[in-house]
Amino acid sequence: MQSIALLARRPVLLSSSRTAAVRIGSLSRHFSASAFAMAPISKEIDFLVIGGGSGGLASARAASSRYGAKAMVIEGKRLGGTCVNVGCVPKKVTWNAAFIAETIHQARSYGFSLQETAPFDWTTFKQKRDAYIKRLNGIYERNLNNDKVEYIHGWAKLLSKNSVEVTLDDGSKEVVNAKKILVAVGGNPTIPPEIPGSEYGINSDGFFDIETLPKKVALVGAGYIAVEFAGMFNALGVETHLFIRYDTFLRHFDPMIQEKVTAEYERLGIHVHKQSKTNKIEKDEQTGRLKVHYTEKGVEHALPDVDHLIWAVGRTPATKGLGLEAAGVETNEHGFIKADEYQNTNVENIYALGDVVGKVELTPVAIAAGRKLAARLYGGDQFRTAKLDYDNIPSVVFAHPEVGSIGLTEPQAVEKYGAENLKIYKTNFTAMYYAMMDPEEKAPTSYKLICAGPEEKVVGLHIMGLGSGEMLQGFGVAVKMGATKADFDNCVAIHPTSAEEIVTLR
Ligand SMILES: Cc1cc2nc3c(=O)[nH]c(=O)nc-3n(C[C@H](O)[C@H](O)[C@H](O)COP(=O)(O)OP(=O)(O)OC[C@H]3O[C@@H](n4cnc5c(N)ncnc54)[C@H](O)[C@@H]3O)c2cc1C
Repeated sequence: MQSIALLARRPVLLSSSRTAAVRIGSLSRHFSASAFAMAPISKEIDFLVIGGGSGGLASARAASSRYGAKAMVIEGKRLGGTCVNVGCVPKKVTWNAAFIAETIHQARSYGFSLQETAPFDWTTFKQKRDAYIKRLNGIYERNLNNDKVEYIHGWAKLLSKNSVEVTLDDGSKEVVNAKKILVAVGGNPTIPPEIPGSEYGINSDGFFDIETLPKKVALVGAGYIAVEFAGMFNALGVETHLFIRYDTFLRHFDPMIQEKVTAEYERLGIHVHKQSKTNKIEKDEQTGRLKVHYTEKGVEHALPDVDHLIWAVGRTPATKGLGLEAAGVETNEHGFIKADEYQNTNVENIYALGDVVGKVELTPVAIAAGRKLAARLYGGDQFRTAKLDYDNIPSVVFAHPEVGSIGLTEPQAVEKYGAENLKIYKTNFTAMYYAMMDPEEKAPTSYKLICAGPEEKVVGLHIMGLGSGEMLQGFGVAVKMGATKADFDNCVAIHPTSAEEIVTLR
């Protein structure tokens, strides 16, 4: 009955025979396609959004539900985009599994006699994770309906600054005219380097398709995706090899984070191949396993019996075949769409945000930019200058241990303020959680606070250790508000926690 009520509120969506045919999937459990009235896809739209990911959905929903714009979203794959389907969400669920694996191990130190009688059931876990994502896809679709955003499943291509061609699943094409167009198409994993056998590897999308618990994996890359995957595999008992070009990974983070997390990964037993380069991948046709040929510190090696090789060597904006040239939209030398701080492209009435502009590639950034844009375009005078402030955006790496970071790294702060104008506070300690454990089970915690000027304004905070992911959000508010070291000190500590160390730094 809930579905009937829902359908009654979605005239636009279900009034399209084509749309219904394409999108009816989950709904057809309750209704046949013939139950729907026939009507064409809207041809004239106020706000047409290409890409039903984090940024596109947020912007279209805000434009329609808050400000009354006639909005449409065109999505070629699954609603929710990268984050929901092959990014943050399934990644965090997997990280949770890894966290539980660690906790089971650690529980012995607290007197529990837990014994695992079978290896981690990755197959069942994956099925449940997939089902959860499918549920989310449905929720996202219902949210669009509730907010009266028309949703077309298909691939969009710009024909001009005001018109878009949509290729539907049945191959037919429709043209939609729009007063304003938002391009929020995100990106795809970068194709791996041209080395023999690279096609035997998979990318971050493929990580979420792995059906059984591997025995041995290799990951190539030093960014947060490679580091997160490596940490999760290792915690779940998989022999894990991480190939990086230099001596540390997470190279955009503060040096303290780079050095300490790299050292911790080695301590945990992850094989970190420093100063390495993959040369060739061979596949054993009988076992399906791979042999990774690589050079490490100038010496050639081969790693046999690898179940999966995962390339995590960056992401490329999804602008191929999008018709940017037809509309005259400019990209930069890396292929990202050029957008100013208001998300304007060089073409009037075409906007871009999220990963496709390559500024800060995080879900909440795309969402916030999308909502600000909707407010500016449709919210009236009070929002005429609305834009996202890209300074002091907190970010977290779900590594082992977790990492949180906001503001400037120490080298960036030195460059901006000069070393003589900075005061750096640091601490390294063992969280109380590990007090009951043997030395080899104790993970380190490290915090660094970077303060500038005589007032000691906090311009950078970098934390690593248990709970850092949750901890940073609150400290992020303080940093964003311009807190000083004295403000941190004036906040009475919460005891016993790790976070209290951040307000008692000396
Ligand atoms: C493995 C992984 C883990 C991540 N973990 C985190 C995390 O923990 N926290 C975090 O904040 N961020 C994380 N991210 C990043 C986050 O997923 C992205 O920053 C975010 O999804 C960007 O949103 P977007 O709207 O710009 O693009 P997307 O979410 O990628 O959405 C773009 C959508 O556009 C569609 N599309 C593309 N071209 C067309 C077309 N021509 N026609 C129609 N549709 C089209 C695509 O199918 C896609 O669904 C992770 C990413 C990955 C890959």
